[in-house]
Amino acid sequence: MSSSLIFRKGLDLKHAVAGLLADSYHSGLVDQIKLDDFTYRSGRLSVHLAREFGFCYGVDRAVDYAYQTRRRFPERTVYLTGEIIHNPYVNDQLRAMDVRFLSDTPGAINHLEADDVVILPAFGVTMPMLQQLERRGCTLIDTTCGSVLNVWKNVRRYAEGGYTAVIHGKVWHEETQATASQAVEHGGRYLVLFNAAEAEVVCDYIRHGGDAAPVLARFPHAVSPGFDPDRHLQRVGLANQTTMLMSESLEIEQMLKAAMIDRYGETGLSEHFQAFDTICSATQDRQDAVVALLRETPIDLMIVIGGYNSSNTCNLARICSASRPTFHIADPDCLLSPGEIRHRPVGTKTESITSGWLPASGPIAIGLTSGASTPDNLVGDVVLRLAEFCGSVL
Ligand code: SF4
Repeated sequence: MSSSLIFRKGLDLKHAVAGLLADSYHSGLVDQIKLDDFTYRSGRLSVHLAREFGFCYGVDRAVDYAYQTRRRFPERTVYLTGEIIHNPYVNDQLRAMDVRFLSDTPGAINHLEADDVVILPAFGVTMPMLQQLERRGCTLIDTTCGSVLNVWKNVRRYAEGGYTAVIHGKVWHEETQATASQAVEHGGRYLVLFNAAEAEVVCDYIRHGGDAAPVLARFPHAVSPGFDPDRHLQRVGLANQTTMLMSESLEIEQMLKAAMIDRYGETGLSEHFQAFDTICSATQDRQDAVVALLRETPIDLMIVIGGYNSSNTCNLARICSASRPTFHIADPDCLLSPGEIRHRPVGTKTESITSGWLPASGPIAIGLTSGASTPDNLVGDVVLRLAEFCGSVL
């Protein structure tokens, strides 16, 4: 089979698809709210937008490349490996353009032909999948975000230096799976930690050793093949999935560092522990902005818009829920009525409907933010619906 042609910098059709992208995802209302100091006021309602929200640079680029791909290859079958980003609305738009999803059909990758075109998502694909796609000989459009490539660079460096990559991430998330595969591809090992509680288990083993079996049982699908806690926790390098909660990543870094100092002493710490902050600036900016909004504005309740499987959106909701009633919604249709809202409560895996979410009278200040994969038109539609529910005139 012939080797693949890979496009990594778009297809020179940026201007050709700009209008379509604007029609699909832009919001004049959101532009106006930004000009009005990120505030919308009407009647008893005020909506306060976080100063950073919505599409990040990586998502912007990935969606742009996907549209360019469709335009460049109108006669060929175009696939995505799976969701291009974690937003159902955007994925539906691509399906409507007859972009197909390999993830819809098990084994579909084995039937690809050299004439097919495959778009790789913003969070990248695993090395085995990339190699499989290359063997099929199809044309590849790589939209992997530069910030994800930066994580991979650090993980490769860990592998080459003999450090186990400890990845603060979600083992079920495509980005973390791709990052872990980079460690293995370069002869290294990995361990994925979801949160500080899991880090505590590892830190305890670093300090005291003991029976490895319970540790391995705790991470059944989150370690590289043949992982041996005795040998592979002697030298570790920390990296993060780009969309994790910054405060928790920092906490895990400090926990691992302290455990290594307890075990091996301060001298020569770098022989046993390294860390690079690989949370991307877009994630950081959105988290900082929502913290500032909550600190500086008397918000009654927060609405966070984004896919339920969007890591950065879930973390925004987590931040908000610590101090305000928070509703993580997937799209404007979740605002069912002034009396009912459909949302996914923080920390749960299912949607539920809450009644009496919106005060029936009196002034109401609603904070609003959206994840890095949420287009502005959804944010604008949420504001319109809130105005309607509050009896405000636009
Ligand atoms: S969230 Fe960060 S890493 Fe992910 S696509 Fe956006 S900029 Fe890139």
